[in-house]
Amino acid sequence: MGGSFRQKWSKWGAPLAAELGRTAEKLLFPPSCVGCGRAVEANGLLCPHCWGKMPFITKPYCPIMGMPFRFDPGDGFLSGEALADPPPFTAARAAVLHKGPAVPLVSGLKFSGRTELAPIMAGWMLRAGADILPQADAIIPLPLHNRRFRHRGYNQAAELGRNLARLAGKEFWPQILLRRKYTIPQVGLSAKERARNVRGVFALRPEAKALLKGRAVVLVDDVYTTGATVKAAARVLKRAGAAEVFVLTFSRAVKEEF
Ligand SMILES: [Zn+2]
Repeated sequence: MGGSFRQKWSKWGAPLAAELGRTAEKLLFPPSCVGCGRAVEANGLLCPHCWGKMPFITKPYCPIMGMPFRFDPGDGFLSGEALADPPPFTAARAAVLHKGPAVPLVSGLKFSGRTELAPIMAGWMLRAGADILPQADAIIPLPLHNRRFRHRGYNQAAELGRNLARLAGKEFWPQILLRRKYTIPQVGLSAKERARNVRGVFALRPEAKALLKGRAVVLVDDVYTTGATVKAAARVLKRAGAAEVFVLTFSRAVKEEF
């Protein structure tokens, strides 16, 4: 008797329950704007209000650091940061400033498992990196430590990097750079503490040197904050023989009010 009920349930009951579950999910979670949660037509999109407020980075910006200037200083002008502390990378670019509706996009991809956002975000990065991508041979995502990768199940930088490599028609090298130290989150650390926190964090697989020699690569991450992490990774890649290291992130933290 029990067996026959189980058979009937698996034939009729389970699919019905699954269908009811999907309907309930649609009723409970209608497609909503990633920026503000308002209802939109299709999932993963922004409402017109958030679209209008998306802080896309546009010229003029520092040709090295990629940070927008408040006013146009003229061609070839470098920012104070690029002059005072020349970075180990050739140039950095980002699609948006890390504020307003850009913030929930980043946290949705990073903490809420919303990997379906990665192709959209990578599309914006493709545009932001239009002057660096044609010079590059391959895309390298900033790696997560194994422990964090196991916990999250994916690396948000690799999700962005894989989509970007596909869109830009570049090779994707997710395996050559390793994170060997479990770092504490950089939030709330001073610039000095961040630099110490990332010292010795990155290592390369043995086969990396042959791949990197004389090549130009783009390091991809979700957010550029102080740059301590990507600078540490860029140094490791340059030391291994990479000719150029570019940095392309989705967003860029803002120190001052823009
Ligand atoms: Zn919205």
